[in-house]
Amino acid sequence: MDQPFDLLVIGGGINGAGIARDAAGRGLTVALVDAGDIGGATSSASTKLIHGGLRYLEFYQFGLVRKALAEREVLLDIAPHISWPQSFVLPHSPEQRPEWMLRAGTWLYDHLARRDVVPGSAKIDLRQDRAGRALLPAFRTGFRYWDGWVDDARLVIANAQDVRARGGTVLPRTRVARATFADGLWTVTLGDGRTLAARRIVNAAGPWAEEVARTVLGRNDAPALRLVQGSHLVTRRVHLGRDAFMLQQPDGRIVFVIPYERDFSLIGTTERSVAAPGAVAMSDDEADYLLAAVNRYLARPLSADDVVHRFAGVRPLIVEAGKGDRETSRDYALVDHAGVPALTVVGGKITTYRVLAEAVLKKIAPRTKAWTAAAPLPGGDVPRLAGENGQAAFKRWLSNLTQAHENYDPKIVRRLAHTLGTAAEPLLAAGLGDNFGGVFEAELAHFRDAEWARSSDDVLWRRTKLGLHLDPAAKARVAAWFGEVAASLTQDSRTPSHRFATPGRA
Ligand SMILES: Cc1cc2nc3c(=O)[nH]c(=O)nc-3n(C[C@H](O)[C@H](O)[C@H](O)COP(=O)(O)OP(=O)(O)OC[C@H]3O[C@@H](n4cnc5c(N)ncnc54)[C@H](O)[C@@H]3O)c2cc1C
Repeated sequence: MDQPFDLLVIGGGINGAGIARDAAGRGLTVALVDAGDIGGATSSASTKLIHGGLRYLEFYQFGLVRKALAEREVLLDIAPHISWPQSFVLPHSPEQRPEWMLRAGTWLYDHLARRDVVPGSAKIDLRQDRAGRALLPAFRTGFRYWDGWVDDARLVIANAQDVRARGGTVLPRTRVARATFADGLWTVTLGDGRTLAARRIVNAAGPWAEEVARTVLGRNDAPALRLVQGSHLVTRRVHLGRDAFMLQQPDGRIVFVIPYERDFSLIGTTERSVAAPGAVAMSDDEADYLLAAVNRYLARPLSADDVVHRFAGVRPLIVEAGKGDRETSRDYALVDHAGVPALTVVGGKITTYRVLAEAVLKKIAPRTKAWTAAAPLPGGDVPRLAGENGQAAFKRWLSNLTQAHENYDPKIVRRLAHTLGTAAEPLLAAGLGDNFGGVFEAELAHFRDAEWARSSDDVLWRRTKLGLHLDPAAKARVAAWFGEVAASLTQDSRTPSHRFATPGRA
């Protein structure tokens, strides 16, 4: 790290990783530094939707919705192994928003941006439609509309992998402690005592952005952030079929029920203000709220016994005078710090990370060209026929892969393909090695060597979601493989173990 980097990005969440990838691809020398695991904070605790946000139309945020809707097609195309179109059923009930409003909203949603892969919306009769079987008979009509789904944690890793592939430096578990600017260069001290030099800094520390601007960069001109915790439950699978549900609540909020990891449902989210971003966890009140919210609709209600996992993340919202959490915009802002080459990123969504990165690069490297819209991420680089979109190409490639590796259970091949994309091919060809009870040794080596994994948590909850599927003995073998001590080997993953990383422990 002797040469100064053109760019230091503080924060390896989706925004930081996306900015670093874009910059590396434009020829800048880049360091991407995160205090914890890459993608270990908000960017692995989202609802995982690539969405415009139907509900934001209610707050007239057409610009944000249009930008995000257009981006759905791009992300589905460049990361087809970890994303897919997702249908949502929005049951209508007379006491909630009127039917004309839902019809107008879904129509607008269909028409605000170009759609190639994502289908359009339709009114449905829940007495006839398969989705209706999951719901109480009182719900007779509804709307089906489409968005996208993405594995958020893997999207971050894919971006970080491309940073490295394009010559960048990725430093996980490394806190940026202090940066001082003199003679055209930032001198940056890392939590482990090492230093590096950089010509420019982008602070993409998510919920920590304001704190990092103040304490690391020594700037007081970043906007104030309101930190809002959002929590999710993972339960036994609520219903068969591929639809997710978007359920309106009497308090005006929306709760999603999304098919998750084949056997489960993902339910979220709550919103409650928190004072600090570190070590957040879902409260029992939030869990009760979500169970009550879905039980207003479900034919077969859920109880606390159906919950297998919980997780929470923190959304940084820019404080807007007179607006509550629900009305506050989910759009991002880029803040130039006066007098120094440094910029702080605030807010944003998984969905808009790539356009956010382009906006950052437009500011800091205006003479370079945008390139990421048509460049598949690592793993999503499946061979394509002329004119074929990423989703179609991935399906074709997966079918060939399954046939080529008939010696393996097709479920294993599919799981690996939806995790690693094209990186599954060499693993399968070389042989997967020991089966630790649902995860293979070759996978663990891949996550360690190619994806910066250093603990069983990194693998079980972020590189994969195998924490939901493996039994305690298999988890113990994974932990032992990473050399973890006996105390953690007995921990049952079906307790709330997915916690927020706390920067500062570098
Ligand atoms: C409950 C919830 C649900 C959501 N659902 C969706 C959704 O469905 N779709 C969608 O598009 N968006 C969603 N979002 C929004 C989305 O998750 C966030 O916009 C996005 O993850 C923010 O990424 P980030 O990179 O800004 O922050 P983070 O992912 O939090 O990354 C910031 C990183 O900075 C690091 N850091 C902090 N301080 C330092 C330091 N001093 N040195 C080095 N590193 C440091 C942290 O370790 C962290 O990894 C949701 C958010 C929440 C909270």
